[in-house]
Amino acid sequence: MQERKITLSEKEIPRQWYNVVADMPNQPSPPLHPGTKQPIGPEDLAPLFPMPLIEQEVSTERWIDIPEEVLDVLALWRPTPLYRAYSLEKALGTPAKIFYKYEGVSPAGSHKTNTSIPQAYYNKISGTKRISSETGAGQWGSALSFACARFSLECTVYMVKVSYEQKPYRRSMIETWGAEVFPSPTDRTQAGQKIIAESPNSTGSLGIAISEAVEDAATHNDTKYALGSVLNHVLLHQTVIGLETKKQLEKAGEKADILIGACGGGSNFAGLAFPFVADKLAGENLRMIGVEPSACPTLTRGTYAYDFGDTVGLTPLVQMYTLGSSFVPPGIHAGGLRYHGESPLVSQLVHEKIFEAQAYHQNEVFKSAVLFAKTEGIIPAPESAHAVKSAVEEALRCKKDGKGETIVFNLSGHGHFDMASYDAYLGGSLKDYSLDDKLLDSSISKIPEV
Ligand SMILES: *Cc1c(COP(=O)(O)O)cnc(C)c1O
Repeated sequence: MQERKITLSEKEIPRQWYNVVADMPNQPSPPLHPGTKQPIGPEDLAPLFPMPLIEQEVSTERWIDIPEEVLDVLALWRPTPLYRAYSLEKALGTPAKIFYKYEGVSPAGSHKTNTSIPQAYYNKISGTKRISSETGAGQWGSALSFACARFSLECTVYMVKVSYEQKPYRRSMIETWGAEVFPSPTDRTQAGQKIIAESPNSTGSLGIAISEAVEDAATHNDTKYALGSVLNHVLLHQTVIGLETKKQLEKAGEKADILIGACGGGSNFAGLAFPFVADKLAGENLRMIGVEPSACPTLTRGTYAYDFGDTVGLTPLVQMYTLGSSFVPPGIHAGGLRYHGESPLVSQLVHEKIFEAQAYHQNEVFKSAVLFAKTEGIIPAPESAHAVKSAVEEALRCKKDGKGETIVFNLSGHGHFDMASYDAYLGGSLKDYSLDDKLLDSSISKIPEV
């Protein structure tokens, strides 16, 4: 312990999280009760989350202290490196400078441990015995399983079936850290049974798995639920990424013109971008871009409305960009980006034109990922590869315009468990999905009236 304290004091890890709500031009609209559609209070969330996390969820304080016990674990891999992508710049022949913050150095291989650790910690000190959650590609499930192991909690993971089958080693990883994991939809919950009855061959979706995990927590007294993205407290925990990046850029004498992150629920993009929002509002010329798959185009083709976070309608209604909670995205390989909604905070900042959004097809995304792997060495997670693609596009635009802008993107994780996706890309069997408007209109038309 003493030894760790010494290393910790030498490490440049932020000691506080940054809460963007304190600096947003407009306050976020409140979540609504799924039944009454009235604004909910902290006590309505108490069956699902421990009180310290609920307090963070509704907090308007600008800075929130990171507990020592959490810093102790974060210090295992933080601060994460900020690299300059010299070889990629050279390959593109761009006058732009490209930097990337590499979150793949965490034990689970992605940024998700930045929030799984504090979530497990606050559950532990609040008396929780078990945490239930969902996972798409398996990154959140493995990050949470690791965190539960560190804080001696039991853990149950509902893993989207298509990923459970595509990524058996993510499952093994989740089990190695001690959690139990089930392919969702399961017959263990009423939500899962309902989906199986309607579509027996369902390959699952994040929305369905969330319904199952929420039901599990709501029906067991010793169990709480944890979400790996979307919610305010999750985005808060991820701000260590942007806070570190800010310092690292300062040290290097650089200033970002563009910040980029892949967007599933919005947490890694928010983690990078939120600490820069106040600078932009103060007049700095800074673009912040969230990047999503064209097959699940929440920010670029969704509608800004109150909707459920899950498929069955158990979660509170939140105002966000959504494709409709009944939308089941095609089985693209960036499993972590297959979500019908988007964080309310990120959605609001996109809606207010403080953030931008872009969408790309998976073949062009993998093409950039392979270029990045060949030049910079790291094989990106398919999710992170969306940020790579956007950075490449922006760097090529700089080349055309003869502009030496500074581009910083978040490389949210490595792709070592996603080599089947690379196989599919390299073998030419990866399909691009162009969603037609009718399909989107149909799920968007089912969004509840409030
Ligand atoms: C989960 C995940 C994402 C998408 O989730 P966000 O909440 O939008 O960050 C992106 N990249 C990686 C590596 C992930 O594991």
